[in-house]
This record gives sequence, C-alpha cells and structure tokens, in this order.
Amino acid sequence: LPPLPSDAPVGQIDGGAFSLYAGCKKFNQLPLSQKTKDGLREAKYAKMTEIQRASLPHALCDRDILGAAKTGSGKTLAFIIPVLEKLYRARWGPEDGVGSIIISPTRELAGQLFEVLKSVGKHHTFSAGLLIGGRKDVDEEKEHVNDLNILVCTPGRLLQHMDETPNFDCSQLQVLVLDEADRILDVGFKKALNAIVSQLPKRRQTLLFSATQTKSVQDLARLSLKDPEYLSVHEES
Ligand code: ADP
Ligand code: MG
Repeated sequence: LPPLPSDAPVGQIDGGAFSLYAGCKKFNQLPLSQKTKDGLREAKYAKMTEIQRASLPHALCDRDILGAAKTGSGKTLAFIIPVLEKLYRARWGPEDGVGSIIISPTRELAGQLFEVLKSVGKHHTFSAGLLIGGRKDVDEEKEHVNDLNILVCTPGRLLQHMDETPNFDCSQLQVLVLDEADRILDVGFKKALNAIVSQLPKRRQTLLFSATQTKSVQDLARLSLKDPEYLSVHEES
C-alpha cells in the first residue's frame, strides 16, 4: 500500500483512494491518524472483523453506511473510528461544539460504547459525554452539553435536550451514528428518532448499524441516509 501520511490533512481520503483500502485486513493499513492507531494498538485491536473491513474504507471516504452484521461482529469500532477521524481531519476543537452524536438504544449499551470511545480515542483531545438519563441530573447536563464534541446518548435523553436545553446547538454536526438501529426501533423510539433526525443539519455523514435488516430499519435508512453503501455481513468474523 502507498504510505499515505498517517496524519492526513482534510480531504485527503477521497473516492479515488477508496479502492486502495478496500482489501485491507489490519487497522494499521488504513489511512488513520497516529492518535487513533495508537489507541487501537494499546487496546489490542489489530485485525479487522468482516464488518469493519467492509465498512471502514467507505466510512473513511465520508459515505453514508447502512451496515448489518450480527451481534458480536464488531460494529462499534466500525463507527467509532470514522467519528474520531472525521473530527480529527476537520481539526475539531473545544470551540466547535457538538460534532458527532451517537445514538444507542439503552443506557447499558450507550455506556459500553462510551468505554470503547474513551479507550480507542484516548490520545485524541475531543470532549465526550454520556447523556443517558437516570444517572445524572438533567439540569446540570444542560449547562455542559454545548461544550461537548461527541455525544453518546439514548434517544429520549437527546430529545429532552433538544426540546428543553436553551441554546442546545448541533448545527455544526458532522457525523450522526445510529447504533443497534433495530433495537432502537424495537424499544419504541421511532417517533423520537424521527423528531431528532428532522432537527439535525442535512449536510452530515450518517452511519447506521443494525443486527438485522427489518422493514422499520429500511424506513429509518430512507429517512436518515443519503446514497448509502449497503453492507451486509453474514460470515463468521
Ligand atoms: P456488535 O456491536 O457488532 O455486537 P461489538 O462492537 O460490541 O459488536 O464487539 C463485540 C466484541 O468484539 C467486543 O468484545 C469487542 O471488543 C470485540 N472486537 C471488536 N472488533 C474487534 C477486532 N477488530 N479485533 C478483536 N476484537 C474485536
Ligand atoms: Mg453493538
């Protein structure tokens, strides 16, 4: 592979570069920032799983993704890495506000992916917050949400901030992630999701991951994705 500078500047990875990375098997063959590579190595991630190999080259080229792969196949890194890289390439900083929103169906799953984000992203300087309700006073959260770069949230709590938090601003949002989309819909968040998506800027990248491809996931995809890559992985990873 051609040795692209690991700290590639904005716009370096375009559609033309995609084919160079399509066959990669290891994370360190991808054009990732050194900070992300270090985080992955220290967390002992080396080889990509099937869904990661299928989706990361597209996601790193700014494309929208509809990724379906069974539970345990490694979908979390398939969106955490593009989120980190997107904000890093955009030189996202403390004053830039909310750059990414990651939506997860339950507090527990949101908490788990937040841990992965902290671990793999530990060399980055972004601020990240877990907005899941229940555990923390919402009024206290309201004073801080605009200072966070990456929000990991359940739909209910995010909508609460959108409705109630004065000056809640996600107008600069770069990447929206809908994780475990089938479960988000199963637990009855369809209306909340529609309300959230309708309030987000249209010019953004959206990564939607799901264990199954149901009719309601397809509906959500139509509503939230633009010319997505459909990636469905069934093999053992
Ligand atoms: P999913 O969201 O598809 O159910 P997760 O992202 O939660 O799957 O990953 C499942 C497990 O696989 C986790 O324990 C995670 O640490 C591990 N895992 C993910 N990607 C890799 C990888 N590339 N190499 C080794 N282990 C991985
Ligand atoms: Mg998952």
